[in-house]
Amino acid sequence: MLMPPFILHHPSTVEEACKISAELIKKGEDFDWVSGGTDLLANYKWRINTKPHVISLSNIPGIDSVSNLEIGCMARLSSLEGSNVHPMIAEAAGKVASSLIRKSATLGGNLCLDTRCFWYNQSEDWRRSIDWCHKADCGTGSDCRVIPNQNTLCVATYQGDIAPVLMVLGASVHLIGPNGERVMPLSEFYQLDGMKKNVLEKGEFLLKVTLPKDSMKRIGSYQKLRVRDSWDFPEAGVAVSWLEGDKGSIKVATTALESIPREHKEEVSQIIAEGWDDKSVKALAGAIRKSVKPVNNTALPPNYRRSVVQVLVKRAFSQIK
Ligand SMILES: Cc1cc2nc3c(=O)[nH]c(=O)nc-3n(C[C@H](O)[C@H](O)[C@H](O)COP(=O)(O)OP(=O)(O)OC[C@H]3O[C@@H](n4cnc5c(N)ncnc54)[C@H](O)[C@@H]3O)c2cc1C
Ligand code: SF4
Repeated sequence: MLMPPFILHHPSTVEEACKISAELIKKGEDFDWVSGGTDLLANYKWRINTKPHVISLSNIPGIDSVSNLEIGCMARLSSLEGSNVHPMIAEAAGKVASSLIRKSATLGGNLCLDTRCFWYNQSEDWRRSIDWCHKADCGTGSDCRVIPNQNTLCVATYQGDIAPVLMVLGASVHLIGPNGERVMPLSEFYQLDGMKKNVLEKGEFLLKVTLPKDSMKRIGSYQKLRVRDSWDFPEAGVAVSWLEGDKGSIKVATTALESIPREHKEEVSQIIAEGWDDKSVKALAGAIRKSVKPVNNTALPPNYRRSVVQVLVKRAFSQIK
């Protein structure tokens, strides 16, 4: 597949990246950020929502640093495996795709991954043959193929592995753009819309992730359902962590079941805020199963993925006792 034409910008500082994005916005020119390119460039080759400009973050020194409390957006997933980051982060990074992809893939790209849908992640000819869908409608005004008559809602699925793990470790994201820097908990970063995906404003990018000091003391587990163990995207994922001895510190998050990865604060506070045993974990697993709303747009059927979530929650708790 041939790459479509676009102008590639190579800023060498964060300030220059923000300046280029501000200038493109001023000129009314559309653009994407690219980091490792393992997701974006595959979509471009399939002519999915290509832009005339692409700003690469790969020439900016210093934004790929890795330490146990701070990880730069350009940190390669292969550099997280075997590093001094929390073992859950290293484990989740090691479960992404294949070793070759992890050499290029970055943390920033993983957290900002485009949502996926089998009506969308297809070649241009394939999508034309079904008259498109509204995430990439080529100006036709086509409807969503999964849930029609929903106005502009897209229910494409977020299938990243690392976000739920960072959520249960209490991570924050640092966003930067022409209007300055802002920081927020990762659990507030995502937006329930398969097209908008997250709260990034045009011109902003994800600069780094920071973790609270006590995150290294957290004990946790990440459980992933996928078709083939070697390189497939998650079809469901559950992360759980707690500060040993403090049952009130438990955090649970899921991925690959909706347009966003999600921390399940409500279910946790209603069922196991004071502590847990086999019975309450079973109740929590049932509540999370009810709360997630997978749709039919990934490899495995939604009902199966919901059933497996229950199993993954129980399995994750059995690992952290
Ligand atoms: C065969 C295959 C299997 C895969 N399996 C998995 C899997 O099991 N689990 C999984 O989690 N992922 C999987 N992926 C997806 C992808 O490879 C990884 O998520 C990877 O970490 C994406 O990082 P990247 O740097 O290559 O992103 P890119 O392709 O560079 O970017 C991805 C998206 O994020 C945006 N972006 C990139 N960096 C930033 C930033 N710093 N700030 C704001 N926006 C940004 C881009 O504009 C683009 O929309 C798979 C991909 C392939 C091809
Ligand atoms: S969920 Fe609907 S709008 Fe979104 S990519 Fe799939 S078919 Fe298109």
